[in-house]
Amino acid sequence: MPVVVIGAGPVGLAAAAHLAERGIDFTLLEAGDRVAASVAQWGHVRVFSPWKYNVDAAARRLLEADGWMAPDADWLPTGAELIDDYLAPLAKLFGGKIRFGAKVSAISRLGYDRVRTAGREQAPFLIRLDDGTELQARAIIDASGTYTSPNVLGASGLPAHGEGEVFVDHTLPDVLGADRDRFEGKRVLVVGAGHSAATTLLALAELDDTPITWAIRAGNATRAYGGGDADALPARGALGTRLRAHVESGRIRLLTGFFTHRINATGQGVEVVSRDPSGHEQSVTVDRIVSATGYRPDHSIAAELRLDLDPVLGSTRTLAPLIDPNQHSCGTVPAHGADELAHPEPGYYAVGVKSYGRAPTFLMATGYEQVRSVVAALAGDWQAARDVQLDLPETGVCSSNLAEAQEQRVGLATGISGGLLSASLPLATVSAAESGGCCG
Ligand SMILES: Cc1cc2nc3c(=O)[nH]c(=O)nc-3n(C[C@H](O)[C@H](O)[C@H](O)COP(=O)(O)OP(=O)(O)OC[C@H]3O[C@@H](n4cnc5c(N)ncnc54)[C@H](O)[C@@H]3O)c2cc1C
Repeated sequence: MPVVVIGAGPVGLAAAAHLAERGIDFTLLEAGDRVAASVAQWGHVRVFSPWKYNVDAAARRLLEADGWMAPDADWLPTGAELIDDYLAPLAKLFGGKIRFGAKVSAISRLGYDRVRTAGREQAPFLIRLDDGTELQARAIIDASGTYTSPNVLGASGLPAHGEGEVFVDHTLPDVLGADRDRFEGKRVLVVGAGHSAATTLLALAELDDTPITWAIRAGNATRAYGGGDADALPARGALGTRLRAHVESGRIRLLTGFFTHRINATGQGVEVVSRDPSGHEQSVTVDRIVSATGYRPDHSIAAELRLDLDPVLGSTRTLAPLIDPNQHSCGTVPAHGADELAHPEPGYYAVGVKSYGRAPTFLMATGYEQVRSVVAALAGDWQAARDVQLDLPETGVCSSNLAEAQEQRVGLATGISGGLLSASLPLATVSAAESGGCCG
């Protein structure tokens, strides 16, 4: 019986590479009609970690054996480049083992609901797709991500009143590209304080005649601006510095203490009303709303399995303290693997960004080490499974120096690769506690 991998994103494909290397039969189920369907939705966004952290080691070995040339190790790819230059060639190696348009709707154990125990561990997994077809597996590596389950706009974690009745962009719109017409000349509200909000705000600021409002729950934007030059995530620091400049110049209107409560479509646009915990209301009327309030894992497909979830983050309980955004940035998360990802249901592992639940500290590199360890465990090689290692320089993994150097390089020398970034770049050092969120 095969191992079933759910999701052909960077981590699901890396899992497939490790399974292939160990000669373990597998099937990879992808809901989208193409590889890395979620990454494709933010294909226009440039990531902050350079190629050297974005390619899995087993995937690299398989690709290089097939004649693949690795991209420039220091280049920061866009989501589209990640797919074209790495994930799509990798997926090609697996041929018919990947099934596209195969959306998993539920997982259980054949003949066992969640309550029945005797003999449970010997029963194969049963996987049902949304077209009703079923297949069986000896183990499941769930790399289905969180991009398709965004957080709501409502400040208390519940949808704001009327939220389902107006159109809200929940993904990162391509404001300067494919989605430009929807935004240029419109009044736009961006809700959220993370990197996705900053990315969208900075793109909007380049459009003429486009009034921008930015709403955050906090009383000020200090945390969203990050530590500037001293940020443990310098790329975020650079974004924050530019964002602050736009707010201070008045290009972006900042609303603080904004607790989205109600949304009403009116003849003049969409009125978005905040009501803070004391009952004080403020409102703004706009044409477009971009919700950048983060993502949450959807564990509903595994509702018949025995999961042990952290009550705060929705990761495994063992993993939660290692990834807590109050303690860690993406670069300070320690290496972890099969032991930290195990649930009471033997053979089921959620990996990749889904394994982090609501923690925004995920990096592809940590996901690659997760699947190396999980696949080793499935192969019975517990020594390799427990020998977890991760080499993420605390500040080097997301470098604003690199981002800025590359921005110049893209601007000045589009299409010319290599050279400019080969010199080592200075890295800032700051305590992780100041850093908070991460690249996602
Ligand atoms: C804008 C942005 C920038 C980021 N920048 C960085 C960065 O600089 N560096 C870094 O390391 N990380 C970065 N991340 C974080 C993270 O590495 C990415 O989110 C990465 O894509 C996660 O990989 P994944 O394979 O776990 O999940 P995903 O890429 O989300 O892949 C999940 C796949 O599962 C499929 N799927 C979902 N549900 C089902 C189902 N029910 N059945 C079958 N298939 C399903 C989806 O279609 C998708 O293809 C960034 C994330 C975002 C959003």
